[in-house]
Amino acid sequence: MIADLENALGSAHVLTDPQLREGYERDWTGRFGAEAMCVARPADTAQVAAVVAACREHGAALVPQGGNTGLVGAGVPRGGEVLLSLARLDELGPVDPATAQVSAGAGVTMAALQEAAAAAGFEAGMDFAARDSATVGGLVACDGGGPRALAHGTARARVAGLEAVLADGTVVRRMHGLLKDNAGTPLPALLVGSEGTLGVITAVRWRLVPARRARVAALIPLETLEAAEPTLAVLRRELPSLEAADFFLDDGLSLVLEHLDRESPVAARAPAYLVLECAARSDPTEELAAGLEAAGIEDAVVADDTASRRRLWQFREAHTEAISARGVAHKMDVGVPLARLAEFITRVREVVEAAAPGARTILFGHLGDGNVHVNVLGPDPADEGVDVAVLELAAELGGTISAEHGVGVAKAAHLGLVRSAGEIDAMRAVKRALDPDGLLNPGAVLARVRD
Ligand SMILES: Cc1cc2nc3c(=O)[nH]c(=O)nc-3n(C[C@H](O)[C@H](O)[C@H](O)COP(=O)(O)OP(=O)(O)OC[C@H]3O[C@@H](n4cnc5c(N)ncnc54)[C@H](O)[C@@H]3O)c2cc1C
Repeated sequence: MIADLENALGSAHVLTDPQLREGYERDWTGRFGAEAMCVARPADTAQVAAVVAACREHGAALVPQGGNTGLVGAGVPRGGEVLLSLARLDELGPVDPATAQVSAGAGVTMAALQEAAAAAGFEAGMDFAARDSATVGGLVACDGGGPRALAHGTARARVAGLEAVLADGTVVRRMHGLLKDNAGTPLPALLVGSEGTLGVITAVRWRLVPARRARVAALIPLETLEAAEPTLAVLRRELPSLEAADFFLDDGLSLVLEHLDRESPVAARAPAYLVLECAARSDPTEELAAGLEAAGIEDAVVADDTASRRRLWQFREAHTEAISARGVAHKMDVGVPLARLAEFITRVREVVEAAAPGARTILFGHLGDGNVHVNVLGPDPADEGVDVAVLELAAELGGTISAEHGVGVAKAAHLGLVRSAGEIDAMRAVKRALDPDGLLNPGAVLARVRD
């Protein structure tokens, strides 16, 4: 197996030395990971197909990996698989201004994509804190979102086409970027959000958005989270330029301030905070001011230049990093209908306390999408008690157990909370049809079953 891979990639790109493999074997949270048989680092689609063919021939499972910023354990080995790193597929084509599209290799980072888009007068339409490492292939495989999904949708909305290697080594390619092409079942659409279980994405035709160079951000203290939904309802109507509406709570702010060694951005602390960003071709500051007035908001910290906006967003973005600095957190990325958000926030603390007395719960997320990141510090990483309690609550309130991070291995056993038996059967049928030997990312999304 190793010899076949070395023949295909060159021995420098088949890593068997434990020290060289190490960085690929543990995930960002520190909660998931195991030893790989080896790390294969192909340079192009043909080499990816060769790795997949070798795995098939030898009956070896493989785990695709991009930037290894995933938070649900699906981009790292479970034990003994070939770790297929797509990082070297980092070719970025020219931006086509007429279609507002660009072709990007699976290993292109979000930051590189953003930079190329900006140079051509466009934007990627997506941004989040892992931008320097998260890859286009990983974003699409997870159907990633982030704050700007409110305005531009998740990765699915950005995909105009893709290229992938299927489990039998077939290369499927739909990179012409035609907006209208309904000739049969859309395979690219099937691969978006499949978390490496149905095919290995090698390139993506990415849909850009026109650059909205004028931006203004605001941090708004909220006395109650119950106020968030009606406030957002007014802002969405009054602010056509609204691009992001995230939230965090006061205990999370304290953690971040300590971690960053910074002063509070607000003099009078509040139970919760909204972070808004408006983006337009011309300065949206007046529109924002009028929107805040219409929503009855008198107190807001406004940042209208790039440096101050970044500083303001840091209070929200640094949550993930600040939490990780405190230990290995249980991370549940759930979604709840906005009308139930305040109820979720109250009850989630109760269910965590019941499942793991004394545990620390930090909540933040993308308010506009009803997407809450529940982080629990304290319980043993292997103890799933709090995970189950939180996921059950999200399901009970009519939400989802996976909003943007994916199901991964972390939540595979709990898919039945939000998907019917019929839906899961259909997912298994698709998996069996495209990967009959179960070689692609086994155990991710669909829990292993003994037939
Ligand atoms: C600080 C921080 C902030 C974050 N914020 C957000 C956020 O706001 N919104 C959000 O959506 N996510 C967020 N994430 C999660 C993460 O960045 C995303 O899930 C991202 O999409 C993962 O990309 P990656 O390249 O790192 O993928 P990896 O972690 O390498 O892999 C993730 C999954 O995709 C599969 N995969 C990777 N590449 C391919 C490929 N080429 N073909 C097929 N399958 C593949 C893997 O097998 C795995 O299942 C954050 C993570 C961190 C660490």
